[in-house]
Amino acid sequence: MRYDYVIVGGGSAGCVLANRLSADGRHSVCLLEAGPPDRSPFIRIPGGILQAIRSKQLNWHFWTEPQPHLDNRPRYWPRGRTLGGSSSINAMCYIRGHASDYDEWARLGNRGWSYRELLPYFRKAENFEPGVTNDFHGKGGPLNVAEPRDPNPLSHAFIEAAVQAGHPRTADFNGAQQEGAALYHLMQKDGQRCSNARAYLREAEGRKNLTVMTGVQATRVLLDGKRAVGARVFASGRYLDVLAAREVILTAGAIGSPQLLLLSGIGPKDQIVPHGIAHAVDLPGVGRNLQDHLDVIITVKNTSRRSISFHPLSLWRGLRELLRFLFFKRGDLTSNSAEAGLFSRSSPAEPIPDLQFHFVIAANTHHAQDLGVLFRGYAYSLHACVLRPKSRGAITLRSGDALAPPVIQPNYCSDPADFDKLVVAFKQARAILAQPAFEPHRGPELDPGQAAQSDADIQAWIRANAETIYHPVGTCKMGVDDMAVVDPELRVRGINGLRVADASIMPTLIGGNTNAPTTMIAEKAASLLLQEVMAQTVIAAAA
Ligand SMILES: Cc1cc2nc3c(=O)[nH]c(=O)nc-3n(C[C@H](O)[C@H](O)[C@H](O)COP(=O)(O)OP(=O)(O)OC[C@H]3O[C@@H](n4cnc5c(N)ncnc54)[C@H](O)[C@@H]3O)c2cc1C
Repeated sequence: MRYDYVIVGGGSAGCVLANRLSADGRHSVCLLEAGPPDRSPFIRIPGGILQAIRSKQLNWHFWTEPQPHLDNRPRYWPRGRTLGGSSSINAMCYIRGHASDYDEWARLGNRGWSYRELLPYFRKAENFEPGVTNDFHGKGGPLNVAEPRDPNPLSHAFIEAAVQAGHPRTADFNGAQQEGAALYHLMQKDGQRCSNARAYLREAEGRKNLTVMTGVQATRVLLDGKRAVGARVFASGRYLDVLAAREVILTAGAIGSPQLLLLSGIGPKDQIVPHGIAHAVDLPGVGRNLQDHLDVIITVKNTSRRSISFHPLSLWRGLRELLRFLFFKRGDLTSNSAEAGLFSRSSPAEPIPDLQFHFVIAANTHHAQDLGVLFRGYAYSLHACVLRPKSRGAITLRSGDALAPPVIQPNYCSDPADFDKLVVAFKQARAILAQPAFEPHRGPELDPGQAAQSDADIQAWIRANAETIYHPVGTCKMGVDDMAVVDPELRVRGINGLRVADASIMPTLIGGNTNAPTTMIAEKAASLLLQEVMAQTVIAAAA
């Protein structure tokens, strides 16, 4: 099996590349995905998110190593394992980050990656349904961005409460002003999830020059000297080689992409040779620079019938909402749960927002792993995270077994400044939840509970309960320094014919959710690849 391009990982980024590289019909493209096709209705129905995350097939169900600064707890890390990848199980919030995040990438030496230069790729990807035509948003792109269809009264109460607590309102987190409270824009179309598979892959799947293989897990990149020539995959109990005439593009995500490089002998020698793998290229940065958003959650009992959302105890309401969804694509089942949010500063000295809040209209379910919590009664929860953590972790190999998960060490709060900011975020969250706007809904605080008041109580609560809010990045860092894994054209340094083009290339974690930025990265990668082909064609024609 030989194709021009072999794309490894059919997630958020892989779907973009599969579409863009196959669009003009000139190149044969193969997309390899370890998980199954994305046919589950729990993917399509936004309210099915808990079931999608709980699925054994659609989620890798990773665990981190014990976290030394969080009471030695290993933390659970869901990651999508199906076409669309994590965009098929995520919370659908459409956020690009702050303009200065990308200017920082450019300042680090990544030419072509400033906000001004990247905005066209964000716009190209987007179909901004609310219809405002301004310099920030795109029309006619594959990724549909919509307003929540039927926001819960609690989400409006949250925005009101944030304003009462002294935060501004903002019209658009992705527009001129990120700071403030608003409803999130959502990656949805017709009240249903618009994953990157739905956005990009559906229209491309019928093309003769695109082959999509599911249920095939890549185990290494095939090298011929210093050139990548394909990928070895494990499928239905046997190994196959899928060859690439032009390039292999890794889009296996912030965990999968560095793991594949290490399994292929690309990375620091001392991380590779002890696992019985031949060392091919010395790249000390592979797997390093892991960054993630750590989240603390306050949960409050909801006493107002007006704002009660879809709930297993409410059979009549459940049936009504199911019918509303099936016939009108409206109601509770169109909800992504995290309908409203806030970007704020931990101190007036901060030049831009460094905290993000997700207001969720239901109880915290510990990443859908604790459905028992739903039977504690109706509740709402406020999530708070620190946007640009200083702590750095790593992905390393556990063994030479390519089918085993790697070692995930995010090293949360190894820099104490991250912990201190999380305490500030917790206090801001509590102040918002105490505002008059919540009065009609507010019951007792369930977690951590009003008894936890002193700084020591709050710190202990954070250490014992802080969780990921799902944005690991940075493990195949783009840059020009010795720790860079890819250059600003996303080429793996020291190897020809190999790129990485997913969330792992972010040099620093952006201030917000990571699906829109990953989509932008893949759009830019496709454009770089196609421009290169065009340049080669011109040179060949001239010769
Ligand atoms: C529960 C959850 C909620 C989230 N909520 C939001 C949100 O509301 N908004 C937002 O912007 N972001 C959110 N995110 C984050 C966002 O979805 C990710 O940052 C983004 O999807 C990352 O894209 P990616 O292409 O780098 O990786 P992924 O989308 O994870 O894709 C990687 C793909 O590669 C496949 N793969 C891995 N290894 C191999 C292999 N060896 N062989 C073949 N295939 C392989 C995987 O199965 C997967 O399909 C959330 C994530 C999660 C998990």
